[in-house]
Amino acid sequence: MTDRSRGAAEFDLIERIRARVAPRDDVVLGIGDDAAVLQVPPGQHLVIATDTLNAGVHFPVDTAARDIGWKALAVNLSDLAAMGAQPAWCTLSLSLPSADVGWLDAFLDGFLSLAAQHQVALVGGDTTRGPLSICVTVHGFVEPGRILRRDAAEVGDDIWVTGTLGDAAGALALLFPLATGPETSGSDAKKTSLRLHTLRPRLDRPTPRVAIGCALVGIARAGIDLSDGLLADLGHVCRASGVAAEVDLAALPTSPALLGAFDDERRHRLQATGGDDYELCVTAPVAARALLASIAGSAGTQLTRIGRIVVGDGNGNGDGVRVFDANGQPWTSQRTGYTHFGD
Ligand code: ADP
Ligand code: MG
Repeated sequence: MTDRSRGAAEFDLIERIRARVAPRDDVVLGIGDDAAVLQVPPGQHLVIATDTLNAGVHFPVDTAARDIGWKALAVNLSDLAAMGAQPAWCTLSLSLPSADVGWLDAFLDGFLSLAAQHQVALVGGDTTRGPLSICVTVHGFVEPGRILRRDAAEVGDDIWVTGTLGDAAGALALLFPLATGPETSGSDAKKTSLRLHTLRPRLDRPTPRVAIGCALVGIARAGIDLSDGLLADLGHVCRASGVAAEVDLAALPTSPALLGAFDDERRHRLQATGGDDYELCVTAPVAARALLASIAGSAGTQLTRIGRIVVGDGNGNGDGVRVFDANGQPWTSQRTGYTHFGD
């Protein structure tokens, strides 16, 4: 930045961030030099993921600053969890419309509280003026050969998901009824606000499934995190692995709040195609069922078996995800998931 007052403000903001960052032994040089210097544990692979959040695209413009901070880190930690990697460090590139220290402090409250939960150190970043946009990069470790990859699903595997599905998409549907159609199980304002009270935190403050992601290493075969919707993301696994998948609609884990807010058809659509769940979807051999149940117990995370991996289209590139309703009948939806630059 060339303008002197802007330069000073930028420096103040960086200093405000630096003052609050927790140390880690493997950070040789953190915020303050031209680049960070970090010590990777011997014998481990370094795993890196990056995700950007733009106002109005990845979060509603009225989202509280502390929730934006939380979500910016959470969606990135979710990517590491989907690889089975243990997070260690992150960087934060902030584009801010103004040098609003109140906003920054609240943003950091959310960001750093999640960072502290996972002992992740903020080691650098960039601060510029522009439309509100947050880009986070996370770094973690995994033992060589023990990564949860998208291309490792095998025919006969069970398909599992963590947590419950569709809550974040349900919150969006309640927030923007004109875009998505009204909720269907009684839509008076009081009920809607009660439902949003439960569902909106699932949109604003997703829980990255770090502990269970790491625990599944060596047991689950393929893994992905659900950011664009179950069918779309499971489709990526199928394409990468050259297999197809069968999903039982009635098995999809459902929160009581979502169950109360929408009729079955609408809810199923939200659960199968709505984005922003940030749950993990993994495949694992049938022989590992008991082990997965015990891992879920120790991690304190719900893990639900929702289907199976089947043979692809015969060309080794089956990308089909077939969904069946409670009567075993094929179920279809107009949308499979969220794509930027899509319709
Ligand atoms: P440079 O001009 O060399 O890029 P900057 O003034 O952008 O330096 O950054 C100075 C230091 O502050 C660097 O260590 C950088 O990583 C860190 N930094 C800048 N912005 C942020 C931020 N938003 N979060 C964390 N660290 C930041
Ligand atoms: Mg810079």
